[in-house]
Amino acid sequence: MLSFPGARLTLALSAEPWRGFSGEGQALRALMRMDDERAVSQVRAQLNWQSVLDTGALATTLGLTASSVEDSLRILGASGLVGFDVAQGRYFHRVLPFDLSSVEDMHPRLADARELMVQGAVRVVNASPIDAEVQSGGTVHSVREIDGELRCTCPWYAKHQGERGPCKHVLAVEATAASPAPTESAP
Ligand SMILES: [Zn+2]
Repeated sequence: MLSFPGARLTLALSAEPWRGFSGEGQALRALMRMDDERAVSQVRAQLNWQSVLDTGALATTLGLTASSVEDSLRILGASGLVGFDVAQGRYFHRVLPFDLSSVEDMHPRLADARELMVQGAVRVVNASPIDAEVQSGGTVHSVREIDGELRCTCPWYAKHQGERGPCKHVLAVEATAASPAPTESAP
């Protein structure tokens, strides 16, 4: 623990109780929800060392929905480019000397999860608690909700045990369970 006069140190990446501590899971889920990842670069372009980032104002400036801006900030947070001020309940701009390779590592997983959904590889057997099967790479992986957390039977999940955020199967199951019927997204 470090403390400085007149300064607060927040050790957590996020103030929200996401499954797992890693910011990766949070950012991956935000990315899965987003229709247009260009929002992230648009929001990033607005960063100018603000001590408070006003989600509503950013949304108005950029012509984005508030939820797109919030999800973009979550993603930027996992990239070390914004922080979350727990006291203010707001994000602020700052740059951490993060290893960005972990963020780059998220994108293949995201693309794979979307591909699984496009292929219709996800079969939700039970909605609550979630029990699903995912056809992937010639095998069927089982994704089950245990103690409020989705666990997968794939080797990647076995290796990382949720420490690197969700695997592509869990991401695909979450996104499928969140939107059971594919619908046109609002413009
Ligand atoms: Zn998996």
